[in-house]
Amino acid sequence: MKVTVDEETCIGCELCVETCPEVFEMAGDKAIAKMSDVPKDLLESCREAAENCPVEAIKLED
Ligand code: SF4
Repeated sequence: MKVTVDEETCIGCELCVETCPEVFEMAGDKAIAKMSDVPKDLLESCREAAENCPVEAIKLED
């Protein structure tokens, strides 16, 4: 699965970084994905982060 954070949409709430710090980190006042390919063992927490993002800025796709 590929993960991306839409910079324009992200409001910098840091929830994704708290939920899945292995994949997301803050870069200034926006979150970024540290990797584009999410390893299997991180998929569940990454998906949870995407689902909980208040502005749906996180996209996960094959
Ligand atoms: S949860 Fe969404 S809005 Fe909040 S920092 Fe992450 S990508 Fe940005």
